[in-house]
Amino acid sequence: MAIFRPQAIRSSSIPPSSDETNSMKPLERSIKGSLLLIATFSLAACGDAQLDAALDTITADDLTAEVLTLSSDEFEGRAPASPGEEKTVEYLKAEFERIGLEPGNGDSYYQEVPLVSITAEPGANLLVRGDGSAHRFSYGDDIMVWTKRVVGSAAISNSEMVFVGYGVVAPEYGWNDYAGIDVRGKTVIVLVNDPGYATQDTASFNGNAMTYYGRWTYKFEEAARQGAAAALIVHETEPASYPWGTVQASWSGPQFGLVAEDNNMSRVAVEGWITLETARTIFQQAGISYDSVKTLATQADFEAIPLHLNASLSLRNTIKQSTSRNVLAVVPGSTRPDEYFVYMAHWDHFGIDRSLEGDQIYNGALDNATGTAGLLELAEAFMSLEVRPARSILFLAVTGEEQGLLGSEYYGRNPVYPLDKTIAAINMDALNILGPMNDVTVIGLGYSDLDEYLVDAAGEQHRVVTADAEPEAGYYYRSDHFSLAKVGVPALYASEGTDHVEYGPEWTRQKRDEYRANHYHKPSDEYRPDWDLAGAVDDLQLYFRIGYRIANESTFPNWREGTEFKAIRDSMMGN
Ligand SMILES: [Zn+2]
Repeated sequence: MAIFRPQAIRSSSIPPSSDETNSMKPLERSIKGSLLLIATFSLAACGDAQLDAALDTITADDLTAEVLTLSSDEFEGRAPASPGEEKTVEYLKAEFERIGLEPGNGDSYYQEVPLVSITAEPGANLLVRGDGSAHRFSYGDDIMVWTKRVVGSAAISNSEMVFVGYGVVAPEYGWNDYAGIDVRGKTVIVLVNDPGYATQDTASFNGNAMTYYGRWTYKFEEAARQGAAAALIVHETEPASYPWGTVQASWSGPQFGLVAEDNNMSRVAVEGWITLETARTIFQQAGISYDSVKTLATQADFEAIPLHLNASLSLRNTIKQSTSRNVLAVVPGSTRPDEYFVYMAHWDHFGIDRSLEGDQIYNGALDNATGTAGLLELAEAFMSLEVRPARSILFLAVTGEEQGLLGSEYYGRNPVYPLDKTIAAINMDALNILGPMNDVTVIGLGYSDLDEYLVDAAGEQHRVVTADAEPEAGYYYRSDHFSLAKVGVPALYASEGTDHVEYGPEWTRQKRDEYRANHYHKPSDEYRPDWDLAGAVDDLQLYFRIGYRIANESTFPNWREGTEFKAIRDSMMGN
């Protein structure tokens, strides 16, 4: 999971959008949503005895037992391509079989995911040469660079440098930072985040809330599409939402990735970050003020600026290939079985670190034994129904989330079921262990029609829906649902809440901060008897209600107007 900080109940930070319903206040929206949907929902909501019975099969005791198994030392921290993986995927397969689900990939419960780990030798320095000037920038302090190509070495030599602003091509915003320039073989310098964040102008992109165009993953993808040889992102702490130390830590040591058929040769040869200080030095060398071109880059008429400098750098790698697995199981639909609603959660965590003193096992109890156990509870609830839903339900336990959403990304690129028959997805990454909440937090509120389903289901539990407090940090792009969003499938990522029924918001915030400081991505993320899983049961029941309702409809919820995924979905669905 990626840590995020949900906001206290506050309506002003719902991401703005051109959609008419989004200009309403949340209360009006939820009322409108309820009225619109009441006709279809009344059947399911009013006196549906089998729904109530199914909800009752989801219990804190069951969840506890499953979390204890998945997070036990025996499962060795569930690292991809390790004996811990073997135990984990066999356990999940056995549980899905026991509950009565069908294999989700032909006659197999597994989808193989080819992984590669690439370790760059430190010490690749960047040399920037101009007319009579030269600067050397050191690996670690000034730059962090790597290659995703599956090769022993990668290099750029006297590659022309071009400043491409935010490096964005977004037709829906009338934006093209690569217009009129050929960057093939060149080294592009890119700003992090997007022009909406930089200007805080709600009319620019999504205002303060980050769009996918702001994520570093996008910057490298676009630079590759443009044929660049290298892409270097300027690190600034605020728009990146983390300090240089995080960049250094995340990009040293082995980097896991997926292997495309072309061995990732279609990616740029060299990817990396440079510090703000490095950027300032490079622009000075070019005789250009960094601050003024940064301002130019926020304008739609910005044109890429050749720096008249050349970059050289070479990298050496150690490469290791391995295979991991996604686990898939299906509850077949009764009348529209070829349409799929998806529940997903990542099963993987960090495994064992033999170099640690004391406890060496990353048990990952909260992150994400809880979400994985949630899949089993939901599967059991669906199998308890006497009358199966019209549509099929796919349970997708993915690998490699902690290494960069790899298992879900692989599924998105190699879907077992056609994406235009994949209705929507709900992702679970760390369930609530603090007990019942008055609210439920949505990361990316306002993105899709799924919000209305959530508001209605939350209403059944007398809860309200709140938005996450840091939309500018782009948490929507940092968990597995995003891998489906990216290929067009509407995906919902909800997470616990901010206001404990008994102890209130302040206590909730304190508890969450305590976890973040003491247990997040540490061996001490273990099950403790003081966990209160009643809130997790509420959330799972909420997710069940949403899936049950959609699986009995014939509609396809869509992205809201103005989101970066709507065009992909519309063209796939022939809208
Ligand atoms: Zn995590």
